[in-house]
Amino acid sequence: MAAERVTIEGISVPTGHFIGGEHVASEATFETRSPMDWSWKLADISRGTAATAQAAVSAAVEAFPQWSAYSVGERAACLNRLADLIEANKDAIATVECLDMAMLLESLKLRLVPRGALNFRNYADIIVAAEERVWSSKGTQNRVIRMPAGPAVIITPWNAPFMLSTWKVAPALASGNTVILKPAEWSPLSAALLSDFINEAGFPKGAFNIVQGFGHDLGSALVSDPRVKRLSFTGSPATARKIGHAAAENIVPFTAELGGKGPFMVFEDCDIEAAAKKAAGQFDDSGQVCLAGTRLLVQNSVMDAFLEKFHAHTDGHVMGDSREAGTTMTALIHPDHLARVAAFVDRARTNGDEILRGGKVHKEGGLWYEPTLIRPKSNDSEIVQHEVFGPVLTLQGFDTEEEAVALANSTMYGLSGIIYTSSAERAERVGRAVRSGVVWVNCFLIRDLSAPFGGIGESGIGREGGDYALDFHADLKTLQIFEGSVS
Ligand code: ADP
Repeated sequence: MAAERVTIEGISVPTGHFIGGEHVASEATFETRSPMDWSWKLADISRGTAATAQAAVSAAVEAFPQWSAYSVGERAACLNRLADLIEANKDAIATVECLDMAMLLESLKLRLVPRGALNFRNYADIIVAAEERVWSSKGTQNRVIRMPAGPAVIITPWNAPFMLSTWKVAPALASGNTVILKPAEWSPLSAALLSDFINEAGFPKGAFNIVQGFGHDLGSALVSDPRVKRLSFTGSPATARKIGHAAAENIVPFTAELGGKGPFMVFEDCDIEAAAKKAAGQFDDSGQVCLAGTRLLVQNSVMDAFLEKFHAHTDGHVMGDSREAGTTMTALIHPDHLARVAAFVDRARTNGDEILRGGKVHKEGGLWYEPTLIRPKSNDSEIVQHEVFGPVLTLQGFDTEEEAVALANSTMYGLSGIIYTSSAERAERVGRAVRSGVVWVNCFLIRDLSAPFGGIGESGIGREGGDYALDFHADLKTLQIFEGSVS
C-alpha cells in the first residue's frame, strides 16, 4: 500500500484518495514531477482503478440523502467554512501548485487560490439568494423547483488545477449534489490538499470525494457508472467525445468545457499600446490557458505600429523559476507537452508558415519554449486552425471589419474572443458577431462569477457559472397547483 502523505517543502500533502471522509491509498502509484526541474520527483500518488471509482461513487450515493436534505443555510455554512480553510492555507496551496504545475507563485497567491475560496463563497451566496420562479396561468400557480440530482463526477484538467476544480465543485455541492472529483494526473497535488479541509468544514462523510489516477481507467469507470447523475468535464475534445458516449449510454446531462483558439482583434481605432501589451500578455503562463486569444487579427493600417509595440512587450517576458517574482513565462507542464508544442511549430515551418519570432526551446534540458509568433501561409494552416496550448500566437492582417469577423469565426472553436477598439458601435457590432462563449472588449480574463461560461463547437457544450450551473446540477420540476376551489 502506498504512503498516504508526502512532505514537500515542509508542506504535508495527501497522496491518496479521499473517499467517504477517509484518506485511503491504492496499491499502484504514479509519479508527479516538477516542470521547473524535471529531475525533481515531488510525490508518488495513488493510482486509482475501477474499484476505486466504484468505492467513491458508492460513498457519494450513500451521502446523497443526507447532504441533499441539508437546508440551504447549512450547505452555505459548509461552503463558507471550506472557503475559510482555503484562505487560511493559501500559501501552502499556492506553493504546492507552483511546484506541481509551474504556475506563477505570485499569481497563485494573489489571484488563483483566493479565487478558489471565492468560488465556494460565491455559491454559498447564490444558493441562499436563489428564488424559485413562481407565476400564475390558466387558474394555476406554477413553481419551478430545483431538486438535487445525485452524485456528480467532476473531471478537471492539468492547467490552473485548484481554481478550475473549485469552480466546478462549488456549484455541484451548493446544489445538494454529492461530488467525486478527479484531478488531472499531471498536476494532482493542489486539489489533493482540499481533502484535508472537507471534514473540518462540516460536510457529511461521502459528500465530497477526491480520487487520483488516469483518465482511461479511473476516469472512464467514473463517468460510465450508472449511479452518477451529472458529468462535468474540462479537457480536450477527444475526451469529451468519450464522456459524451458514457453520458448518452446512461442518459445523464453533461457539460464539457474544451479548448479554444480565440481571436485577438486589433482595430485601427483602438489604443494600440494597450492592445499590444495585452496581446504580448497572451504568452503569460506560457499560453497554457484555454481562453487565450492566440490568433492575432490586426488591421493592416496599424500593423507596423502594433508589431513594434508587441515585440517590445514580448521582449520583456522572463522565462524562469515560477517561484521568482520577475518570472512571467513558466515551464510547460510536461516533456510530452513541450514536444507537442514544438512539433506544432516544426510542422508550421515545414508547411511554409513564417516564424516571425521564437520557434525553439528556450534552453536545452528545460521545459520552457520561446514566445513564438507565426504568420501563416493561409488561414487553413494547422497552426491557425488547431489549439497548441503553448506560447505560440499567429498573426493575420485584415482590411475591413467584415473580413475580421469572418477570420474570427473561421475555426471549429468558439470559447473566447478579444476585441480592441475605441468605437462603442463597433464593440457592439463585432461583439455580437463573434461566435464564442465570451467576448472581452478592451480587456481580458476579467470574469464575473455569475455570468455563464462555456464554449461553442469544439470548445464545448453546456454552460456553468452563476445560476446556469445551478440549473445544470438540478433536476428542474414544475409544481403546478390549481388556484380555484377543489370540489
Ligand atoms: P488534456 O489534453 O488537457 O490533458 P484530457 O482530456 O486528456 O485533456 O484530460 C483532461 C482530464 O480528463 C484529465 O483529468 C484526464 O485524466 C481525464 N480523462 C482522460 N481520458 C478520460 C476518459 N476516457 N474518461 C474520463 N476522463 C478522462
